[in-house]
Amino acid sequence: MSRVLIVGAGLTGSLCACLLRREMQNKVQIVVWDKARGAGGRMTTSRPPDPSSQSADLGAQYITATPSYFQSHSSFYSELLSSGVLQPFDSLVEGLKHKDGSRDYMTPLGMSSVVKHFLSESGADLFFEHHVTGLYRRGASWEVRRKAGSSEMFDAVVLTMPVAQILQLQGDLGNMLSVQQRQQLDGVVYSSRFAVALFFPPDAVLSFPWSARYVSDNRCICYIAADSRKRNADGPGRGPSLIVHTSVPFGLEHLEEDKEAVQPIILQELQKLLPDLPQPISTKCQKWRYSQVLTSVPDCPGHMTVLKSPPLICGGDAFVHSNFDGCVESALSVLSVLKASL
Ligand SMILES: Cc1cc2nc3c(=O)[nH]c(=O)nc-3n(C[C@H](O)[C@H](O)[C@H](O)COP(=O)(O)OP(=O)(O)OC[C@H]3O[C@@H](n4cnc5c(N)ncnc54)[C@H](O)[C@@H]3O)c2cc1C
Repeated sequence: MSRVLIVGAGLTGSLCACLLRREMQNKVQIVVWDKARGAGGRMTTSRPPDPSSQSADLGAQYITATPSYFQSHSSFYSELLSSGVLQPFDSLVEGLKHKDGSRDYMTPLGMSSVVKHFLSESGADLFFEHHVTGLYRRGASWEVRRKAGSSEMFDAVVLTMPVAQILQLQGDLGNMLSVQQRQQLDGVVYSSRFAVALFFPPDAVLSFPWSARYVSDNRCICYIAADSRKRNADGPGRGPSLIVHTSVPFGLEHLEEDKEAVQPIILQELQKLLPDLPQPISTKCQKWRYSQVLTSVPDCPGHMTVLKSPPLICGGDAFVHSNFDGCVESALSVLSVLKASL
């Protein structure tokens, strides 16, 4: 039985694990490692320290399906809609400009529930706090080393983290990339931004009518969501949550500063935009150094094969584009290579 390691429990990694299981059933052992403490990656849903507030999506906010992706990825949409993981997002979003015919979907249990759905379907052996540091070719296998733990051998490895983090790995990967592949990977550009979640007490009232608002005239803040309202999760007993995303120029300007130093600036700007906001019980700030892909890998089928045998394949939104459908495309293309080589 082949032993396949998928590095990254974000959307691409979870889809790769799920598709591989459906395709190869019990002929593979699928193992997923992630350096984080939970699943989601950039589709993370943050729980408040105090359980009397609702959770909040710190990264991806909702899923927009263009008519063509809704058709070509219809099985994924049908699966998520019929299991209740996705629901139509039809509450008020101020400033949203949509191209014709696109549909928006929200996740009643938060964006990480999409990732968790596919991970649970995959039956993979999941390990968190497993930070991969290096890959070493050992004959027909890969030795994978990690921080604070022993290395393990795998027959195939799929890397789904942001490209800059792939390029930081020690071992044989760097030497195996062709000049052209190295140039393609070096050319990938991500935006950076900060996100702040505000968690409110049960009696707090958010006195504006929208679920989300795009802010066009502020140098710091570009998006605000009444996060729990967006998910139709507001109700008695638990206080609402709110999310603020900073603009890309602001993210770039403050990229090397500690998030603890940047959060007060964001909250001050928020206070100016929403002066009636109640006092939160707690806040959480996230720095997204690799937020959304601005320049993806050019001329690429959705993945990059570093080595055919033993397979070492890179996938993720950088190989297509940054959203749900980009990750689906990448996972489908990783699957086609893995299927052929296993
Ligand atoms: C602020 C923000 C807003 C967004 N809004 C939307 C939106 O509204 N709609 C939408 O569709 N998309 C949105 N996106 C984009 C979407 O979130 C991403 O395209 C998608 O989540 C990428 O998934 P991925 O699995 O390719 O990568 P990731 O989610 O980054 O997953 C990679 C995983 O690898 C792990 N990892 C990294 N290095 C290592 C290592 N060395 N060892 C082990 N594990 C490692 C990470 O912890 C992470 O879990 C947004 C993203 C951000 C940041």
